[in-house]
Amino acid sequence: MAAPAIQAVAGRFGPYGGRYVPETLVAALDELDHAYAEAQADPDFHLRLDSLLRDYAGRPTPLYFASRLTEALGGAKIYLKREDLLHTGAHKINNCLGQALLAVRMGKKRIIAETGAGQHGVATATVCALFGLECVVYMGEEDMERQQLNVYRMRMLGAEVRGVSSGSRTLKDAINEAMRDWVTNVRTTHYLLGSVLGAHPYPTMVRDFHRVISREARAQILEKENRLPTAIIACVGGGSNAIGAFYEFIPDKDVRLIGVEAGGRGPALGDHAARFSGGSPGVLQGTYSYVLQDDAGQIALTHSVSAGLDYASIGPEHAALHDSGRAEYTSATDAEALDATLRLARTEGIIPALESAHAIAECIRVAPKMSPRDVVIVNVSGRGDKDMGILVRELQLGGR
Ligand SMILES: *Cc1c(COP(=O)(O)O)cnc(C)c1O
Repeated sequence: MAAPAIQAVAGRFGPYGGRYVPETLVAALDELDHAYAEAQADPDFHLRLDSLLRDYAGRPTPLYFASRLTEALGGAKIYLKREDLLHTGAHKINNCLGQALLAVRMGKKRIIAETGAGQHGVATATVCALFGLECVVYMGEEDMERQQLNVYRMRMLGAEVRGVSSGSRTLKDAINEAMRDWVTNVRTTHYLLGSVLGAHPYPTMVRDFHRVISREARAQILEKENRLPTAIIACVGGGSNAIGAFYEFIPDKDVRLIGVEAGGRGPALGDHAARFSGGSPGVLQGTYSYVLQDDAGQIALTHSVSAGLDYASIGPEHAALHDSGRAEYTSATDAEALDATLRLARTEGIIPALESAHAIAECIRVAPKMSPRDVVIVNVSGRGDKDMGILVRELQLGGR
């Protein structure tokens, strides 16, 4: 945003996080913070959310032992946490149901959201239909081209999709437009942010709505293996599926937490979205975290074959986990993600989202170096149906 008044308040993860927003949004963020704290303390809120997660979204998701992939890689036992089986095809519905319930509590009738891959837009349009809320989704025009099917799904669900033609015509530009809308319509409107990004309380609140992933996975692996895993691997765009998959394991110091960023076409600035290898601390869209930027602090362009990982910043809690060394961050290239997609499809009959394929790619690298006594959990954040256009082109599936 242009020249924001800087206001740093609660919601810090070490030095990261905070609230760097124009004055006009402070009251709205405070209102949200209070409503969220009240909801957290209200057993009725949790009952309603749990019942929606179970009966509407399809939780708990299975923890599936991938025996053929395990055998093919010849090392650690590999389990897949199947967030791809949730309603709408990705983990994002966890957060959308939580925030929609909160919006209703706050008496907001209009929801706005930004979307990159279109998955968050679809999940938002879905919960708005479910709760009878007006829905406007901002989406970069480049992403609208890459993810056409999701545009049609949102319209089918009654949402208005507003194309954004400024900047790189991707996620960061869509977030700028959504922020502008929120400043203008803040009294009637809830901004349903799609990842662990933005000003406080979003990174904390969105993380809490995804904690269910690791709460389930921890209980499931204890039941199946009677031990904790050696490692959890998750892809990291904004970082919501990863923090959800990591969170309940953070106190278990022997469990490695491995986040996988988009290595794109290669290490040059502009060719990837690997914030920890190519970025440095800075402020983007309300929060202080690692950012891909040039020497003048201008936000760099990013690239990934997966629209959901194609973003210049990363959730502030990941920045703190990175600096403390509690979590490790690596990257997988476009080519490695495409290979991993094919590998999982052919060994297990599961076509993962290209985002999730980055986590599979890291698993393919590390599992063979481990022993059969090791156990690895890969979070499969979403399914690959939305990516079939790209897969047809990149893996040459067309023709006769
Ligand atoms: C949006 C998306 C991501 C990236 O978002 P995070 O907040 O990093 O989880 C990853 N996987 C899928 C399937 C997505 O739709």
